Amino acid sequence: MKILITGGAGFIGSNLVEYLLHHYNGVEIVVLDNLSTGRKKNIEDFLLLPNVNFVEASVLDRNNLEKWVEWCDHCYHLAAPVGVKLIMEKPVLTVVENIRMIDNLMELICKYKKRILIASSSEIYGRSLDFLDTTGEAGLKEEDYRIEGSSKNHRWAYANTKSLAEFLGFAYHKEYGTEVVVVRFFNIIGPKQVLNYGMVIPNFLQRALKGENIEIYGSGEQKRSFLHVKDAIYATTELMMTGKGIGEAFNIGNPVEISMNDLAQKVINITQSNSQIVHISYEAAYGKGFEDMNRRNANIEKLQSTINFNIQYQLEDIIRDILTYYKEEKKI
Ligand code: NAD
Repeated sequence: MKILITGGAGFIGSNLVEYLLHHYNGVEIVVLDNLSTGRKKNIEDFLLLPNVNFVEASVLDRNNLEKWVEWCDHCYHLAAPVGVKLIMEKPVLTVVENIRMIDNLMELICKYKKRILIASSSEIYGRSLDFLDTTGEAGLKEEDYRIEGSSKNHRWAYANTKSLAEFLGFAYHKEYGTEVVVVRFFNIIGPKQVLNYGMVIPNFLQRALKGENIEIYGSGEQKRSFLHVKDAIYATTELMMTGKGIGEAFNIGNPVEISMNDLAQKVINITQSNSQIVHISYEAAYGKGFEDMNRRNANIEKLQSTINFNIQYQLEDIIRDILTYYKEEKKI
């Protein structure tokens, strides 16, 4: 089995490389990454193996991409500009790269009749849960209506490029029978996640370990749910390898929510930090007009009825795993 991973030097990608090597005998892997947010260090141990290769290039380089799509059996398309901070600061890059990458890829995947996984995001649900389900108990289901804000607000640009990637993937599936699996990741966390792109847990942990103030945007009553990258990768590879996910979109996340205030306190308790919690406005953090959703928890019934999936890691386990990684890597 030959596997092409775009964005494979990033957080989810490098954990995927490790998982595939441990669980699938005989895989050959090519990581294609431009190292914009990813790091070669994330995969350097695997590059010592004869069956793992790294190609430093952009998915936008079509000639190079064609060679690797032709070579592979399955492609996991993870490459994307990532993180709310980067997306707000680089709105043109976010839109142009995401759209051109999926356009390039889908055409080639169809041409060579390969199977592709498209990494989408819970962002595509926008603020649906805030408006459509006041209790939030059911969580967001794959076929739910989606409510997003104005096109003047760049936050929604990322979500829209991700939903466009889904539309294009399903269009190829319908018209040409292309084997497309879509996964919508909901706050996936774990070792190897970068510290500085606006990801909440790396941010809180870093500040707690340094004894700095932990900054919470808005009231802190907004809730999120977190899933260990190992659980996310198990689900992703099962959907691809068994073929059970073809032609469908799946939420990959944790239905259990936590407020940002409680999360900050949990991080302080686990790290035994002296940090104080302070609240700052969204405007101060991201500029005027920024919008956030109050809650975003995943309904994973569809995933569980398609593959055998049970969450293995609770939030405390994940935070401790990340801490161990920071210590080993001397990150703090
Ligand atoms: P990441 O930033 O660690 O990984 C993205 C990788 O893509 C990086 O290695 C980066 O260098 C690479 N990349 C970016 N543009 C590229 C280009 N033009 N050509 C080649 N490589 C390029 O982020 P991640 O958290 O591992 O995210 C992986 C995917 O999952 C992304 O598509 C992201 O949108 C999606 N996702 C992640 C989460 C999450 O919670 N981590 C949530 C929702 C969706």
